[in-house]
Amino acid sequence: MSILVVGSVAFDSVETPFGKVTEALGGSGTYFSTAASFFTPVNLVAVIGADFPEEHIAFLRSRHIDLAGLQRAAGRTFRWQGRYGYDLNEAETLDTQLNVFSDFSPQLPEGYRDAEFVFLANIDPELQLEVLKQVRRPRLVACDTMNFWIAGKRQALLETLQHVDILVINEGEARQLAEEPNLIRAARRILGMGPRTLVVKRGEYGVLMFSEHSVFAAPAYPLESVFDPTGAGDTFAGGFLGHLAANGNLEEGGLRQAIVFGSVMASFTVEDFSLNRLRSLDYAELEERYTRVKLLTDFSGLS
Ligand code: AMP
Repeated sequence: MSILVVGSVAFDSVETPFGKVTEALGGSGTYFSTAASFFTPVNLVAVIGADFPEEHIAFLRSRHIDLAGLQRAAGRTFRWQGRYGYDLNEAETLDTQLNVFSDFSPQLPEGYRDAEFVFLANIDPELQLEVLKQVRRPRLVACDTMNFWIAGKRQALLETLQHVDILVINEGEARQLAEEPNLIRAARRILGMGPRTLVVKRGEYGVLMFSEHSVFAAPAYPLESVFDPTGAGDTFAGGFLGHLAANGNLEEGGLRQAIVFGSVMASFTVEDFSLNRLRSLDYAELEERYTRVKLLTDFSGLS
């Protein structure tokens, strides 16, 4: 089953303790689509500027991502600049330039309107809702956001959340959205805002999934070298939703399996700058790490 995603396609300039990169390919829509494309076809809705090079488009095409919903507008592509200290779990945003996204009014190609799986990647919540309104009868709607929008467009975000089944955000954002420092209470409050499932990304500490009657914890794959965490969250979401859409099991068991695939996928992204590690990744490498993560927390049946 294919996935419809709206999100940013960007140039990222990133500094970590291990190096820096300037105007590399990035964006929530880009990471998500690339990750999800390992599991299922993806239709990408976004806008790029006149300065976006053909080579990046060729890369997205090489992942068989459908680009009928990718518009090119006069102006500059979205740009994000961020920095990480030795705590790689938290990015510090230095600059956000919306550029062509400021006047973007997405018109979904007719073939996208029957999408069953929709991912509203991190972007202006007004745009997320605009896209969602054009989809006829989605089976599952998942959504990501960040501090920039929680602080800057809270009302629009709360409206979007009323139409969302699964919200995927990081730990700090969950506390900020709920205005509640205790994560368990924050989760309960967010489940009252619309989503029936909340997935909290906790960087190197893994993922927590909350729903009304259960909590599931998945560890992150233990890595010795984390080079650049940019895109880990979007890659996680792409692996998670991609696996769910391909597998079609939306019950607790299917969600849990998909969470682990998402975590494993993200563990590759952080090994290099931009999407570089995903360019060479093959499915067998994913499966190998999936098996190792299963063993990581297995304590049943051992003497
Ligand atoms: P993450 O997966 O959370 O590390 O997300 C990183 C990606 O989010 C980068 O590639 C950025 O281009 C993108 N990004 C950063 N800020 C925003 C924003 N305000 N809206 C949309 N995308 C953003």
